Amino acid sequence: MQTTVAIVGGGLAGLYAGRLLHAARIDFRLMEARERLGGRVLSVDSSGAPAEDGFDLGPSWFWPEAQPQVAALVRDLGVATFPQYSEGDVVFHRMSRETPWRYRATHQEPQSMRIAGGTGALIQALAKDLPGSSVLLNAQVKRMTLRSNHVELATAGPDGWEDAIFADHVIAAVPPRLLARISFSPAMDPSVEELWMETPTWMAPHAKFLAIYDRPFWRDAGLAGSAQSLVGPLAEIHDATTASGRAALFGFPGIPADARASLGSAALTKACLEQLAHLFGPEARDPRATLFKDWAADPLTATAADRSAGGHPSPSAKPWVTGEWRKLLSLAGSETSAIEPGYLAGAVSAAERAVSEVMQRLHAQS
Ligand SMILES: Cc1cc2nc3c(=O)[nH]c(=O)nc-3n(C[C@H](O)[C@H](O)[C@H](O)COP(=O)(O)OP(=O)(O)OC[C@H]3O[C@@H](n4cnc5c(N)ncnc54)[C@H](O)[C@@H]3O)c2cc1C
Repeated sequence: MQTTVAIVGGGLAGLYAGRLLHAARIDFRLMEARERLGGRVLSVDSSGAPAEDGFDLGPSWFWPEAQPQVAALVRDLGVATFPQYSEGDVVFHRMSRETPWRYRATHQEPQSMRIAGGTGALIQALAKDLPGSSVLLNAQVKRMTLRSNHVELATAGPDGWEDAIFADHVIAAVPPRLLARISFSPAMDPSVEELWMETPTWMAPHAKFLAIYDRPFWRDAGLAGSAQSLVGPLAEIHDATTASGRAALFGFPGIPADARASLGSAALTKACLEQLAHLFGPEARDPRATLFKDWAADPLTATAADRSAGGHPSPSAKPWVTGEWRKLLSLAGSETSAIEPGYLAGAVSAAERAVSEVMQRLHAQS
């Protein structure tokens, strides 16, 4: 298969790059390793299946004033938004032998905004506008080989089925640490590989726990559904009720990835529900359903390095690609953005930069 631009990765960055190329009438093929689009954006129903009106197991928030690029995309796609629920008291639990305190939080500034239907609604809206034949699922890029004036990308499906795509240009819309797993011929400059490996993938070491209820009972008690806890297992908790009114609480476990893995999800779920009951009342013990997603255990988000060296990526002054590869390869994963790296805004902005680089190269060739 031959194409002008191959996009590696179907998260927000890859899909937005596809949208910009499609608008410019540039032929592209997007290859996504998973059987779904969205990457770290994942909105699911109570059974855990991707859903149109879902609960967010990945990102929930954007901040329009600080991240105008996401606000513009949301407007452009016509996706509805709503503010993070924060009316009422916040709970703080400092020590297991102390009773949790309640306090009235000052008004949230800047306001965290959510997307109606879940952040996955952004992904669905982007995918709907792309030509279906341009998006390939279950296609993991394993190898990139530089030929005289194009790149050969070797892909493999989960069943081991292999294919090849020949592209004039490549946009790699994956976290740099995952890019380092692809084999490059000729080999990538070692200093570039080092930069990729040193760049943490934002939130990859973390997990999200979600409990779904018949009603947001904590609101009756004047609670916002937010808590901070130094006791755990959840360190930070928020109201995750959907725009359509399905009640839920979510939290980030404060336990490191390896300890979560040895504890197991059943024991963690039990401990999280006990904690929610202690902080918000006994009704929290009986959810309709619970969801748990450990991103550190997902090899299409996290690498071994993310389990031990997480943190926030910082904008890099060093080039993301050097040598011969620079003429054909641009990076677009959120972590490579100069603005808001690691966030949804970073994915939008890195995709814009990568597409503009490809367009400049195409223009120079014509
Ligand atoms: C729990 C959690 C909470 C978060 N909360 C927020 C938040 O509230 N606000 C915010 O702004 N950001 C948040 N983030 C970060 C946000 O999700 C990311 O910035 C954004 O989704 C990154 O998009 P991306 O397209 O750059 O990368 P990804 O979403 O990681 O997409 C990369 C894609 O590439 C695919 N892929 C990987 N390797 C290959 C390969 N070899 N071949 C083909 N495909 C490949 C992957 O399957 C994936 O689909 C959160 C992330 C997590 C995990």
